[in-house]
Amino acid sequence: MPSTLPNNRAVKMLNAAAEGKYGVLGVVSYNMETIIASIRAAEAKKAPLQILLFPWAYKYSPLLVDFAAHASRKAKVPVTVHMDHAQDPEVIKAVSQIKAEDGTPAFDSIMVDMSHYEKEENLAKTKELVALCRERGIATEAEPGRIEGGEDGVKDTAELEGMMTTAEEVDDFVATGIDFLAPAFGNVHGDYYGVENIHLDYDRLASIQKKAQEGKVQIVLHGTNEFPPEIMAKCIERGVTRVNVNKLVLSDYNAYVAEHTGKVPLTELLERGTELIQKQCEEWMDHLGCSGKA
Ligand SMILES: [Zn+2]
Repeated sequence: MPSTLPNNRAVKMLNAAAEGKYGVLGVVSYNMETIIASIRAAEAKKAPLQILLFPWAYKYSPLLVDFAAHASRKAKVPVTVHMDHAQDPEVIKAVSQIKAEDGTPAFDSIMVDMSHYEKEENLAKTKELVALCRERGIATEAEPGRIEGGEDGVKDTAELEGMMTTAEEVDDFVATGIDFLAPAFGNVHGDYYGVENIHLDYDRLASIQKKAQEGKVQIVLHGTNEFPPEIMAKCIERGVTRVNVNKLVLSDYNAYVAEHTGKVPLTELLERGTELIQKQCEEWMDHLGCSGKA
């Protein structure tokens, strides 16, 4: 099934990453500092970039969505805006209608995450919402199986048993019309509490990727907190195209803010915080091999 969204910016970006065998940094963004820092990093490294917002951002203020959409279009390199883990059909219906100033959808892609439903309902809801997004020119992503855990702004699935993605599920989800697939192969949302606790099923990842490719669907990676560059490289070798990062690029910023809030002027806190995020983003762009690929 060929992609019916050949002009979608996120689809083009991840197709190029698959072709070139590198990863695109997908930065979980809660505030303007993160958006500004990640775009500065992308411009400095001449790297493509995806800004990731959770539905939380839209509920907190649609202005944050407008800001991300505007910033991505002003960037000197390709930058897209993705809504990650959209778990409420009503939110998907609402945010898929938000337009940027140029009249195109503010979100280039949306993760239709119905993984909190049992499989049949999950597939039915996914199919319906994917069709709605496609109609509006927006690419979609789904998570077959269940990636355990939760992170800031995302519903915790800890009460549900984590399940590895199977070959059958890949076929089922590709058939819904998605463009990107986030497999569960031992990765978890949130923390691993030590690199020694990261146990990934690389063979499963490789076979999932092969199957997804038959449907022209690209693989994206969730749950990377604490991943060292070597593990990331192994995932990219097996066809991962976008790498979601949260703590990997926010940890220095979080530590700095925790230590310096109220002790330095707010302007200095914002500026220094932005620099720290940019530095970690640039390091990861080098590790993922996307530097120079814009
Ligand atoms: Zn995720």
